[in-house]
Parts: sequence; structure tokens; C-alpha cells
Amino acid sequence: MKKFLARFAEFYRPFLKLFAVVTLFTCGVQFLGLLSPYFYGKIIDALIGGKAYKEVLTLAAMSLGIFLLNNSVVGCFSDLFDSKNVRYDTPKYVAKKTLSQVVKYSLGQHIGQNSGATQDVIKKGEHSMGAITGLVLYYLLPVALQIVLFAGALLYLEWSLGLIVLGGLALHLGANIYLNFKFKDSLQNLEKKRSDVSKFYSEILRNIGVVKVNAQEERVVDEYDEQSQEVCRTEKDLWIKYMWLASWRDNIIGLTIFAVIAVGAFYVHKKLLSVGQLVVFLFWTNRALGSIGQLGNVQRQLMSAAASVKNFFAFLEIEPDIKIMDNPVRPGKFFGEIEFKNVSFSYPKRISIGEEKPEASDTSKRETISGVSFKIKAGQKAAFVGLSGSGKSTIIKLLLRAYDPDEGQVIVDGNDLRIIDHKHFMNSVGVVEQDITLFDNTLRYNITFPLNGRGRFVSFEEMARIAELSRINEFYPILECGFDTIIGERGIKLSGGQRKRVGIARALIKNPSILIFDEATSDLDAMNDAMIQDSIKEIGAGRTMIIIAHRLSTIKDADVIFVVSGGKIVGEGKHHELMKICPEYQILVHKQVKVF
Ligand code: ATP
Repeated sequence: MKKFLARFAEFYRPFLKLFAVVTLFTCGVQFLGLLSPYFYGKIIDALIGGKAYKEVLTLAAMSLGIFLLNNSVVGCFSDLFDSKNVRYDTPKYVAKKTLSQVVKYSLGQHIGQNSGATQDVIKKGEHSMGAITGLVLYYLLPVALQIVLFAGALLYLEWSLGLIVLGGLALHLGANIYLNFKFKDSLQNLEKKRSDVSKFYSEILRNIGVVKVNAQEERVVDEYDEQSQEVCRTEKDLWIKYMWLASWRDNIIGLTIFAVIAVGAFYVHKKLLSVGQLVVFLFWTNRALGSIGQLGNVQRQLMSAAASVKNFFAFLEIEPDIKIMDNPVRPGKFFGEIEFKNVSFSYPKRISIGEEKPEASDTSKRETISGVSFKIKAGQKAAFVGLSGSGKSTIIKLLLRAYDPDEGQVIVDGNDLRIIDHKHFMNSVGVVEQDITLFDNTLRYNITFPLNGRGRFVSFEEMARIAELSRINEFYPILECGFDTIIGERGIKLSGGQRKRVGIARALIKNPSILIFDEATSDLDAMNDAMIQDSIKEIGAGRTMIIIAHRLSTIKDADVIFVVSGGKIVGEGKHHELMKICPEYQILVHKQVKVF
């Protein structure tokens, strides 16, 4: 709980002053709210005591003055303040802080998480933080202040009656703590089930193409329905139990009011208290306890929101696993010499948010690559070949520092990758991924994305040069708005070959020292393939190039070819050398199918 509150406070630190102002306004509103009933009591006593009509009217006017001051000045001002600052600024700030944390995670950490589940945890967490803030500021805080002020006033008016009310409040609070404790685990369990259903839903939307081409529409709807029914059942069971117990808890309120009336009436009978004073007492008691009576619903919302926020905090507590040094090496230019020295690596176990991280000494882990050593000279064209699943992409991921190796070193220009400024390095590497991922934005935005927002300043000549190198010039003029055409979600308006060429242009725009093609030509037809091969030859000049190719044509003229098998390098050399000495390479070449 302490940790939870500390995290909450840390999130809202810039708003603490603002919250203090809101609290001050709330105090004003509650204090003035206390005064009106006081005047009602005075009016009743004045009437019973046979005071002049003018005197009664003066008291009524004073009560009206307080009402107007409370409602029109303090209340309006406080609403204006809250709406302008708290309601809009805080969610914006929470979202920005969350995104800043999320982008710090390594590529490997993002790969290791289910994106649907992550999105769900973040969205629910952000929403629930807003809900908790709203409930605390606009419900709990006024109620708490009301209780303190009213209890003080009650004690001042008649201490024994005040004690009865305070006793009732303490009992109610105790019952609340008990309920919270009793339902804690069930709520966490419910939250987990809800997350699983949301994850399933977003998986369906993400893979809607697979659902449609396999005609599985009814099946996924049924599966979703089954899962959400289960959540619904759990939810109903939990809240029915909770509300039943909460209604017993709220009986404390009725009993306390009864005790106040019984004892108060006795005092009036014995002339220890005036009728007006008893009325004031009942007003205040009713106000203080009445607000607490609505606590059941608010508490339910709070408990539910707290479970989501707990998950959200657990997600944000994950440390980025790629540690960035304080004073990293930042060379003026990378030359592109790459060396792997005895590198071994196994993928970390995929864990759900909030789940404990497995022990570092987990012996069940199988090494994906083991004892990999090779060297690529600056400016060389290197190729990795091997059967599917042999570990080629993993080697590239280690070069991109998506993960750090378990053993050995990845060295660039003589420096271990771990001591190099990672962002600076990534700005010098262009990657044409296996599946080109594109933003639902313009062609220009997608190509110039790596330029840190400076895309607008790329000259027409530079765009034309990149378009020519990547062979985009062969299709962009026929798009409806040229470079400014919105290419749709994941580049849906482009063909596979066109998407690939956008990926090449995006990698080239950085003028990288190292260019990586991960199976970049795998789904192109012969014409497109030849076109890309020409392009590769042109763009490779003056930089280190690493290719994971599916086609022999891509690697035949490579300066060095590495043959990967079972996570090890089993052959190294030029094509004609490997054809003589490496049986694994010979098999790959003879198969000539999608084995590279
Ligand atoms: P392909 O040519 O089919 O792309 P590859 O040679 O590039 O294959 P890798 O993607 O490096 O192979 O995969 C090597 C092994 O690591 C495979 O057994 C694969 O199942 C496993 N693997 C890949 N990515 C992950 C991951 N994120 N988590 C766990 N295991 C993974």
C-alpha cells in the first residue's frame, strides 16, 4: 500500500500544489456548508422562543447570504479551477509520462510482451488513475473534510453526542478496511480475467485477416462471448457478495442516527439542549453520515480502479533491460567494423505483467545461439545463410542491441556495444526488416521517420535521390498525392514489393554506416527482385552491408558469407570457397528454395 501511494504521489508530484489549492477550496465549501444548518437551528429556537419576525428574517437572510457565497463564489471558482487544470492537465501528463517510460524498454522487451495486453494495461491504468484522482478529490476529500469539520462542531455543541457520531464513523471505517482486505485477492483475480478478455479481443482485431480468410467469424465471437461471460459471472458474484456485506456495514449509519436522536431527545426533554440545537445536530449528523452512506459505490469504483492501477504500476516498474551508461562512447562517425566474440544467447522467458521474473540461473533455458564468433570489416558486404530457425535474425537482434548477449561480446569499431551511445549507434544503422512495418500516415512521413521530426526539411532533390535508389520513383508518381499520399494502416494501400521499397528508402534516408537487409527480397517476384538487387548494389557502396537472403542471387557476390546452423557458425568464406568446404552450404545451395 505504501509503495502504491508513493508511486501515485510520484506520478502527480507536479500537481501537488494544484491539489492543495483544490483542497483549500473544498475546505471553504465544507465550512460554509456547516454554517447554513446552524442558522436553521437558530431560526427554530427564535420561533419557539417567540422572537420578533424581523429577527427571524435577519437570521434567514444570513443563511441565504452564506448559501449564495458558497454556491456562486467559492463553488464556481473551485469548479473552474478543477476543470481547467486538474481534469485536463493530469491525464495528459500521465499519458506522456507513461509513453516516455514505455519507449525506454528495449526492443527485446517489447517483442517479449503481448502488445494487446500491454495496451490494455496502459489504457486501463491511465483511465483508472484519472478515476481515482477524481473520486479522491471530488468525493473522498469533501467527505473526509465534512467528517472532520462536522465532528469538531458536534463535539463543540455537545460532546457526548459528538462521541456517538465519531464512534459510528470509526466503526464504519473499520468495516471498510475489513471489506477491502477480504476482497483484495478476488479483485486482482477479476482484473486478470478482464485483461485476458481484452487481450483476446485485440488479438482478433489484429488478426482479422486470418479470421476472415479462414471463415472463423462465428467461432471467434463465440470464444469471446464465452470468456466475457466468465468475467461477467465472476464480477457479479464478487459485487453481489460485496454489496450484501456493504449493506450490513451501512446499517451502522442508521444505528448511529438513531442513537443521536434517542440521546438528543432525552437531552431536550431534560432541557439540556434546545430543539434548534437538536435540529442542527441532526442536520450535521445526517450530512456527515449520509455522504459515508454512498461510500459503498465509490469504494467499489475505487477498488476496481486500484486493481487496474496496480497492474499498470507493475508494468511501469519493469526496468529497461538494456542499461545505458552514464558516459557512453560517442564516435564522430561509425566505420562499420563488426565483431562477435564468442557470443551465446537464449531468449528470456515471456512473462505476463505483474508476474515474477524467473531466476537468472534458470537451467531450463536452451541457447538460441552459442559461441558465435565472426568479424565483418568496414565496407564489406556480408551475408548470413542458414535454415529457417537457425539463428540468423537473432544475430541481427544482438547487433541492434535488442538484447544483450548472455556471454561474449558484440563489438563495433573496436568498442563493446554496451559502452557505445545506443541512440547514436542506431542513427548510424539502417534496417530493412523482414516485415516492413509502416505508420498510417503519408509516404513522406514513413520515409523520413528516422530524421527526428526533420522530415519536412528534406529537399526535393534528396527525396528524388532516395526514391531513385530505392526504386520508389517507379510508383510514387502514380499515387493520388505522390509523397503526400496516406498509405493506410501498415501500408495497406501498397503492394508487398512497394512496402519493401519504402522500407529500403526509410533505411537509406539516414545515410547509415551499416545497412541490414533481413530477408528483404523474400516476397518479391522476379522483376521486383532484379530491381532490388540492382538497388542493393548501388546503395551498398561505402558502407557495411549485412544481408540475410532467401535467394542465392543476393549473396553470390558477397565479400563474406556466414553459414548458420543450430545457432552456430558452421562455415565462413566466399561462395566458391564454401561450395568446396562447407557441406551445409552445399545443401542450402542445392535446395535453392526458401532455405536461406
Ligand atoms: P528465419 O529464416 O525463419 O527467419 P532465423 O534463422 O532468422 O529464421 P531466428 O529468428 O533467429 O531464426 O530464430 C532462432 C530461434 O530462436 C528459433 O528457434 C526461434 O523459435 C527462436 N526465437 C526467435 N525469436 C524468439 C523470441 N522472441 N522468443 C523466443 N524464441 C525466439
